Amino acid sequence: MSRDHRHTGSHGAQGGRSAHGSNEQSNRAAQPQGSIGQTRARSAYSRQEHPLNYSRQNTQSRYSRSGTGSVYRQQEIQGNFRAYEPQRRRKQSGSKLVPVIAVVVVLIVLVGGFFLYNTFKPIDLVVNDKKVVYPAFTKVEALFEKDLIEPDPGNLLAIDGTTLTFGEGEAGKVLVNGEEITDRSMTLHNNDVVQTVKGADKTEPYSDETYPVSSEFIEVGYGALSVLSSVGNDGEEAVRTGELSGLVQTVVLTQKVDTVVTHYNPAPAEKLIALTLDDGPSGYTEDVLAVLDKYDVKATFFELGENVDSLPSEAKAVADRGHQVASHSYAHKQLNAISTEDAIAEWQNAQDAIERATGVKTTVGRAPYGEYSFALWKTVPHELITVLALWNIDTNDWQGRSPEAIRDTIVQEAHSGAIILCHDGGGERTKTIQALDMAIPELQSRGYTFVTIDELVAASPPPAQE
Ligand SMILES: [Zn+2]
Repeated sequence: MSRDHRHTGSHGAQGGRSAHGSNEQSNRAAQPQGSIGQTRARSAYSRQEHPLNYSRQNTQSRYSRSGTGSVYRQQEIQGNFRAYEPQRRRKQSGSKLVPVIAVVVVLIVLVGGFFLYNTFKPIDLVVNDKKVVYPAFTKVEALFEKDLIEPDPGNLLAIDGTTLTFGEGEAGKVLVNGEEITDRSMTLHNNDVVQTVKGADKTEPYSDETYPVSSEFIEVGYGALSVLSSVGNDGEEAVRTGELSGLVQTVVLTQKVDTVVTHYNPAPAEKLIALTLDDGPSGYTEDVLAVLDKYDVKATFFELGENVDSLPSEAKAVADRGHQVASHSYAHKQLNAISTEDAIAEWQNAQDAIERATGVKTTVGRAPYGEYSFALWKTVPHELITVLALWNIDTNDWQGRSPEAIRDTIVQEAHSGAIILCHDGGGERTKTIQALDMAIPELQSRGYTFVTIDELVAASPPPAQE
């Protein structure tokens, strides 16, 4: 049963359900006339083209099980063709050619007509935003007789933009589908978009006498942070003389941009505070790091190049534990009191020492004693210094104050955007470490987050110039 069922299913898929039904009737009608002895070729045809119906299959399957299935199938199939035979012969004897030729002729006429219609039918155009219909093979020039206006040429202008002569600028343009065309005998196609555009204005010939304009280095504002907020460039201007108008005017060819140092006190929206430690690294640096780790606090260490060279592993530990390593110059000299060349060397040597020890190349610095001139800002290369940080909470921890006194200064003066000055080098720093162990949790309990100088600048960038 199941094997025959599958057999039926596959035929049904070939013939479709309606064919299945009609064959069922044919099979039944033909069966009584069936006889043995028809050709094998026809039985093959029958198996392919005439799916056996469901009820016949069921009957057949019972025969099949008894071992006579092949004989039965042949018999049944032959019966099918016997019934069709006379009809097929009558059709072959008549002329099949006449209707075929008629169909072919009708097809040729239809296809040809469709082709001709498409070739010669009127075309839809959009001409200066208006939908219009034109005969096939219309050329651009034909549109000017009805729907297009000759585009105006531009005007000739003096160097100051006033009109010298109307209509002596660039010629007007004709655009087809957005592309300018010069050949107006061009044939248009269905759905083409045609536009006319007024010609561009043209400026009179002129001569320029150019000269450079030097960029200035300026400083604005006041505060604990100084940031190179704009790196400028020189400009170029010209005295321009119009050859037709005789007009003379100054024009800017390249706008000069000033270099700007902005001094400001950061004012972040959140309660952020920056702890900074100067004059390290030293033998106390590791203990400072332990306190910072205890409260998961990140600080900024302004290190001296000579100390970094002496204690490179301490310097590296600062960087490796996620703190910001910045420069406090090489040998803690008063930079305003030495030559410009020596001041530059102080920054350069410190930058090199810090990079050697930590892999960090910093352009963030703090001048020793907080003394720095605008003259130094102008002469020290930007590759060495882009940010200088002072402080606005001075703990004076270097004066030997008690841990409680240092803590009180920090806690009482704390404010959002504050920069706290402490030291991890330059002397005995046990009191500073004890003070931090008290002040940090106190400020954290008041909602402060400790950030590095880089993070503070990012959270509160220099205000834009007025
Ligand atoms: Zn210092």
